[in-house]
Amino acid sequence: MEFDPDLVIPNRELSFNEGGCLPYNPDSAWHRSRFESLAKHFKFSLNTPFRDLPKKAMDAILYGSKESIDIHYENKDKSGYFDYNTRFPGILADLKRRYMETQSSGIKDWLEKFMSQKPCEECGGRRLKSEALGVTVGGRLNIWELSSLSVSDSLKFFETIKLDKNEKKIANQILKEINARLGFMKNVGLDYLTLERKSATLSGGEAQRIRLATQIGSSLVGVLYILDEPSIGLHQRDNQRLIDTLLYMRDLGNTLIVVEHDEQTLRTADYIVDLGPGAGVHGGYVVAQGPPRELMKSRESLTGRYLAGTLKIEIPAERRKGKGIGVRLKGVREHNLKNIDVEIPLGVFTCITGVSGSGKSTLLSDVLYPALANGIYGSNRQEGDYDSIEGIEYIDKVIDIDQSPIGRTPRSNPATYVGVFSGIRDLFSSLPDSKARGYKPGRFSFNVKGGRCENCQGDGTIKIEMNFLPDVYITCDVCQGKRFNRETLDIRYKGKNIADVLDMTIEEAAEFFEYIPHVARKMDTLLSVGLGYVKLGQSALTLSGGEAQRVKLALELSKRSTGKTLYILDEPTTGLHFADVKQLMEVIQRLVDQGNTVVMIEHNLDVLLQADHIIDLGPEGGDKGGEVLVTGTPEELARCGKSYTGFYIKEMLDRKQGRKASGSSGKKPAR
Ligand code: ADP
Ligand code: ZN
Repeated sequence: MEFDPDLVIPNRELSFNEGGCLPYNPDSAWHRSRFESLAKHFKFSLNTPFRDLPKKAMDAILYGSKESIDIHYENKDKSGYFDYNTRFPGILADLKRRYMETQSSGIKDWLEKFMSQKPCEECGGRRLKSEALGVTVGGRLNIWELSSLSVSDSLKFFETIKLDKNEKKIANQILKEINARLGFMKNVGLDYLTLERKSATLSGGEAQRIRLATQIGSSLVGVLYILDEPSIGLHQRDNQRLIDTLLYMRDLGNTLIVVEHDEQTLRTADYIVDLGPGAGVHGGYVVAQGPPRELMKSRESLTGRYLAGTLKIEIPAERRKGKGIGVRLKGVREHNLKNIDVEIPLGVFTCITGVSGSGKSTLLSDVLYPALANGIYGSNRQEGDYDSIEGIEYIDKVIDIDQSPIGRTPRSNPATYVGVFSGIRDLFSSLPDSKARGYKPGRFSFNVKGGRCENCQGDGTIKIEMNFLPDVYITCDVCQGKRFNRETLDIRYKGKNIADVLDMTIEEAAEFFEYIPHVARKMDTLLSVGLGYVKLGQSALTLSGGEAQRVKLALELSKRSTGKTLYILDEPTTGLHFADVKQLMEVIQRLVDQGNTVVMIEHNLDVLLQADHIIDLGPEGGDKGGEVLVTGTPEELARCGKSYTGFYIKEMLDRKQGRKASGSSGKKPAR
């Protein structure tokens, strides 16, 4: 991680005085004084855009001055001092020092915005010295080259490796181990991962499946395994391999308990325990349990009724034709994409499908999103490799609703994120008791002094920094985690104080604030994305990726739509039950009905059947993927012979429409 000049001064058309150097505020005497010293020495004006500064001055600003200069440091109260005749270290070094010295994770977070990751200059990202890289195996690959291969490519490499008699003797046992382990990775659908892939960049589902792969290898019996949604991110075809692996582990003599929403997994299970009936306060009971067949007979079990087909997510009667215009990408070549042309039709709901590693995220997150954002907002994001893009003029906003956290401190929560909390604070400050005591909305904020508990500064928790270990949070013993001081908590609306309100679930709050229109409206958007069970004040740190994504979606829904927005979503159904998926789909369809465009990566068949248009990538992951296989409506896909996705869509369509699965025309995946 290094400070990146392009992030520190992202727009060189601006001068220092226009705020062009983001981490240095022209209004701060302390920040300003250093630039003034530099300007004086190098004879430039702080009104000149950075682009027009002489190279020598620019180098000195960024990387430090070669010669000594006099630097004046000035505090707000003018109590500055002079550093005579010293080298200016450069703002990148200065930022680095600030980053190393600060104790505040807030400032660290903020500074990290100006950093980017770069390969090490010495080894070029290969991590090893040239001596170590000089050693090759099979006379061909060194350890870096080998670990840059995907699981499936390295399997192939070890299958075809040529060894002489002695080498064989030495390598035999090792090769057996290597092949077995690579085989496990393949079986859980991870054959597209490269071996050197950093574990921090794996999705939750991928990390879980790797751990699963290590277990298959152990051949233990009598173990009880607990898995939480292992199917996340898997295409139906890979999902079948995962299920086969689970069955294999069961047959070895183990027990598996899996939290799962995936229909295919549910139908394969020996036994299902269905909890509910609703979420939050409406849940907490075992509604039904037994083999899937039994569950389908239960009238109480929502899951059972979806499995039996008596409840279903209806297939739209008609597919939208769209506005007849689209965003056209030509010659896309990033990662494994094979110089493809892709058209995203506007005014419709498009799903991008394909097995894991086929290139879906690359297309959406590395190419489409940055290209549109740069085109619309003039931002400076790194774009993946492509020739041209057309049609940007038809959209006025592009919004990437991803699964990254909505905040990195316990201070952010769903209520603050969608802005409903300010409405609630206004309400509390307008109560007669507040008026009598002169309490303003800020009194009910845990971000500023006044109403909050000062012991924990409104966090409700105290952070204990442990050297070498992750930070630990303990409940504040002054406010008992309520985050506010006693006087603030005295103020009650309908019997509840501000801490009680933050402790409500969104569903409770929606009912509680029913008659406060602007609060109720935002609560409804949170409800409509299936977040009714989440607490209003639940810390951002505890939300799952899927939940964070739906909070962001709720915020977008609460804004007035222009009808010319393009939304990008990556697997929003992660962690959702059939009933939640149904609700989410209604929201998505509403967005598109308003004229907007939605592009979504998705594996869930119920969702694919909702789409107007599907772009199927494949045929396989990694190098063997990256092509557009078919595009068209779900029905057209089902008729196409070469797509795995088409095969499963056909099966699902037949089941939904009550037809017996006829000999499918789709590509039947080999097990
Ligand atoms: P999908 O979203 O369909 O699962 P991805 O777009 O993530 O597929 O990946 C497509 C291909 O690009 C895969 O072979 C994958 O290993 C590779 N890939 C993904 N991210 C990177 C990266 N950061 N660097 C190099 N290759 C990558
Ligand atoms: Zn406290």
